Amino acid sequence: AKREGRGRVCFFETGMDRELRDRRLLQHDLRHALEQSEFQVYFQPQARMDGEIIGFEALLRWNHPVRGFVPPDQFIPLAEESGLIIEIGDWVLRETCRQAASWPRPLQVAVNLSPVQFQTGDLERSIHQILLETGLAPTRLEVEITEGVLIGDFTRALNLLRRLKALGIHIAMDDFGTGYSSLSYLQSFPFDKIKIDRSFILNLEATPQSAEIVRAVLSLAHALHIPVVAEGVETEAQRAFLQREACEVMQGYLIGRPEPIERYADLIGINVER
Ligand code: C2E
Ligand code: CA
Ligand code: CA
Ligand code: CA
Repeated sequence: AKREGRGRVCFFETGMDRELRDRRLLQHDLRHALEQSEFQVYFQPQARMDGEIIGFEALLRWNHPVRGFVPPDQFIPLAEESGLIIEIGDWVLRETCRQAASWPRPLQVAVNLSPVQFQTGDLERSIHQILLETGLAPTRLEVEITEGVLIGDFTRALNLLRRLKALGIHIAMDDFGTGYSSLSYLQSFPFDKIKIDRSFILNLEATPQSAEIVRAVLSLAHALHIPVVAEGVETEAQRAFLQREACEVMQGYLIGRPEPIERYADLIGINVER
């Protein structure tokens, strides 16, 4: 509030006030999103270079009653700050495993895990419980982690990853190349997959550096016998480049967007009349 002339008070908001207030409002609504069934899991296909679909990444969607779809990049950080990500993360895991267990074709399914789920909560027990409950084979589940998981209590996170791997769950290193120490983490843990960040694929044609980085990541991963997923493949030129460079798996709008699994009924082995 600011005094304007005599006795008049004028309220105004700066851009920052508005942003802060908006975050608080969203955070408030987020608390009720689970019980109001406003979340949905979308699935984005992953394909081998010959086009064969080998699995899906589960991506969370929040359909807000007033705002419509709120992007995960906006609400995941809020859920992490408030600790709600523990409950939401459990829900995503359960919902994803429940759905995947019902698919006629036993395809892989990848779930994103937040660093907060590693630090607090009982992630191992949750995953164990959810696998038992849904009957999904652990080998069909993949968890995607970013280097944020390994920053903080490194030893604890590492031990947890080892125990998950011992259950048969696959561990993928997400957003590879964007962090500070992606390379050193490859040394500490035998990842089952490396996902090259979308930003490198995006610039593949425009910047020669990106092409060289992608080549280098592929050659490094192959030397370590770790298969690579290229994220954000949108064009045929990108696909062709990745195939030439012997990338194993691709994911992106060229193959398919994140959608409710019904849209991919034929891929999971459900016959649909056309
Ligand atoms: P991410 O794990 O790196 O997921 C890939 C993102 O790239 C997704 O965005 C996906 O829709 C998008 N994408 C895939 N292919 C293409 C493409 O060809 N072009 C373009 N432009 N984009 C593509 P989305 O779904 O908005 O998710 C954003 C981020 O939110 C994810 O990044 C992940 O970090 C986080 N997230 C999503 N769902 C969950 C979840 O269930 N749990 C947690 N902890 N994080 C999640
Ligand atoms: Ca991911
Ligand atoms: Ca990613
Ligand atoms: Ca990302």
